[in-house]
Amino acid sequence: MIDNNLPTVVIFGRTNVGKSTLFNCLLESKQALTADIDGTTRDANWNTLEWQGINFNLVDTGGIMEEKFLLGADKKSKADDIDLKVQLRAKNLLNLADIIVFLTDARAGILPGDKKLALALKKIISKKIPIILSANKADNPRLRRDAIEFNRLGLDEPLAISATNGSGTGDLLDKIVKKLPKKEKERKRPKKTLAAFLSEEETKKETINVAILGKPNVGKSSLVNALCGSERMIISAKAHTTREPQNIRLEHKDKIINFIDTAGISRKGQQTAKSTSGKNTLEKFSIKKSLDTIKNASVVLLMIDINKKLSHQESRLVEAIVERQNSLILVANKWDLIKIRDQKHYKQEIYAHLPFITWAPIHFISALNGSKVDKLYDFIAKAQAGRNTEINPNALDKFLKKLIKKHTPVKKKGTKRPHIYEFKQVDSAPPVFSVRIGAKDTISDAYLNFMSNRLRKKFGFYATPIKIYVERNKQIHGQHEESVKTQNES
Ligand code: GDP
Repeated sequence: MIDNNLPTVVIFGRTNVGKSTLFNCLLESKQALTADIDGTTRDANWNTLEWQGINFNLVDTGGIMEEKFLLGADKKSKADDIDLKVQLRAKNLLNLADIIVFLTDARAGILPGDKKLALALKKIISKKIPIILSANKADNPRLRRDAIEFNRLGLDEPLAISATNGSGTGDLLDKIVKKLPKKEKERKRPKKTLAAFLSEEETKKETINVAILGKPNVGKSSLVNALCGSERMIISAKAHTTREPQNIRLEHKDKIINFIDTAGISRKGQQTAKSTSGKNTLEKFSIKKSLDTIKNASVVLLMIDINKKLSHQESRLVEAIVERQNSLILVANKWDLIKIRDQKHYKQEIYAHLPFITWAPIHFISALNGSKVDKLYDFIAKAQAGRNTEINPNALDKFLKKLIKKHTPVKKKGTKRPHIYEFKQVDSAPPVFSVRIGAKDTISDAYLNFMSNRLRKKFGFYATPIKIYVERNKQIHGQHEESVKTQNES
């Protein structure tokens, strides 16, 4: 947690010098990763720290630094370039620092990247902000001696440390607290506080709410463990009534992925429930409970055990998910137990069972050994983007004309082929379309399905259900007029 009243120390340096290792070492990683803070302001990248009775904020800039970004945005870079965003963030953090720890790699020696960053740093920050130079990875006496060469950077006397074995880190902390401004008024940094900057930054990020559903024993809690154990940082864990976090928020690229109600699916959560109620609460597969969870989710990961046949309950759950218009990714788990790994065969079998969700992708993973788990992050982001897609009316008009030319619309009943007057998108997240036909026309469900399939082919809509409403022209005194009466078909 960041405390606005405390001074801030920022760890900075080129990539691979060991910034996050040092960050964790200084915070004694265990304490940093288990500290549970109310609300949503916990990050593996920042925390408060106490040394010799003095408290301060410690922040790791992270990411890949290039001096050109510090000196001004590269004109060729787009505003949504993730690298650029990381670097602009670092620049903002440096401007909020009371002390900067400039980290280098003693094993690599001075690299051009160090020199360029040192020069850029001197240009962008106020002269009054102390820089502490530290040479990391100095794991033996020779490396510690050679660290003196970093003097040439012209920043400070280099302090040799090893973030992996902790040597020299006590001296580094001593040096930090010695240079820290003692009183609030001595602090040099601007008005805008670090906490304000960081929380503003987090609220700007898009959050994708994801529910993980499935029958008991399909591997849901194993998946949650695998997701948390991966490299990505856990930025917050909202406190739950049990000690188990209810939502797990992970940062992936420029998005926040919020796995909701994870306490309900984890073994530990279930055990806690069991011990507090005194009853045996062996998890039951409850469609109602699953539906409660997906109320707050946009994307659903439905886990199945690929070694077992799909059950009736699972089909019912899929139907309910489709009805609620969640985006859906099927996660076929325990793939490691399959001998002949023919994905095509398994996909055919699943879609034959669930012919109404051929649009939902199926991903084969092993939650136990982590195989293909990491890919789920990108699939989730892709599903959210598909859900949010809004198609330009002109593009949709063109699409319709081409479609009608190739495949004449098919009637439902009666004799007359329907005439389509208009096709428009009326909503997104999830996407809804409306097709307007003649007052006495009908249009077949097969043709509407065909339209959704073509929409998918042309515009993506990955893992997203599409709804198409039918609207009819109203006949007044023999004339056609736009109708408000709609008929719901999907
Ligand atoms: P949940 O009830 O859906 O949360 O399922 P769990 O995650 O507790 O897993 C149930 C059992 O399946 C445990 O014994 C896991 O070790 C095992 N399991 C989970 N994922 C896999 C997997 O990918 N491969 C194999 N072989 N076993 C798995």
